[in-house]
Amino acid sequence: MSEETNVSSATPLLDVELVTLFPEMFDSFLAASLLGRAIENGIVRVNRTSPRDYAPGRHRQVDDSPYGGGPGMILRPEPVVAAIEAAEAERGRAFRLMLSPAGRLFDQAFAAELAGRGRLMLICGRYEGVDERVADLFADEIVSIGDYVLAGGEIAAAVIIEAVARLIPSVLGCEASTLDESFSAARLEYPQWTRPPTFRGLAVPDVLLSGNHAQVEGWRRLESLRRTQQRRPDLLLRHPVTDEEEALQGGGKDKRRKNPKKRT
Ligand code: SAH
Repeated sequence: MSEETNVSSATPLLDVELVTLFPEMFDSFLAASLLGRAIENGIVRVNRTSPRDYAPGRHRQVDDSPYGGGPGMILRPEPVVAAIEAAEAERGRAFRLMLSPAGRLFDQAFAAELAGRGRLMLICGRYEGVDERVADLFADEIVSIGDYVLAGGEIAAAVIIEAVARLIPSVLGCEASTLDESFSAARLEYPQWTRPPTFRGLAVPDVLLSGNHAQVEGWRRLESLRRTQQRRPDLLLRHPVTDEEEALQGGGKDKRRKNPKKRT
């Protein structure tokens, strides 16, 4: 009934329970790239349980019309709860997240919080949503991945799995890269380049070819700040420019190119 996507018996560092009417939607997602390898190595485990398997009757109906009227169908509580309880009876209590556009906004800090929990359950809604009693009785958090409405929780669950899994040491391969990047310090990440040094007339900034580590570091911090100012001023409202950044801005003025080639 519930299907395990893991070939190793080692204790996983991230253990995910998916409650979804469409378990097959995760097939390629869980098989590919770093996450696929982490699952293969037993670092991440993902189990999928479908409420459909717990729905009563020949037609295994999981939804019904809303009380009070209105469009669409609502997932009935019994099959969803039966799926939650079956998964936990087999593999233990998880930190339960109900996916909903009416939830706490998922962000990098939330991802880090979840990475520390180790065992998560992601409950995916469909249609017009899930009977409210499931959240009342079972949700430890209600989580939204953004201010838009998807057709179901599956893609949202995939977003959360990917963001959380890559914070688990040994999933990403190069752990240092999560410390540096966008949002970790309320700043967008600085731009990056690889070979070739010139592409279609655009050259990589000289400082990055200089081999001067301190200079590169300072330049990157300034670029992070500049990019954040341009693209996400809302982040600066919540996390204002630091003294250190101000010093960098002051000291970096003449070192920065007056007319940087368009690259943002
Ligand atoms: N009528 C609901 C939307 C239902 S969308 C409302 O207006 O709130 C169907 C399902 O998709 C939801 O139950 C939820 O599980 C998932 N979903 C849709 N948008 C989402 C979002 N932004 N974040 C997380 N889950 C979402």
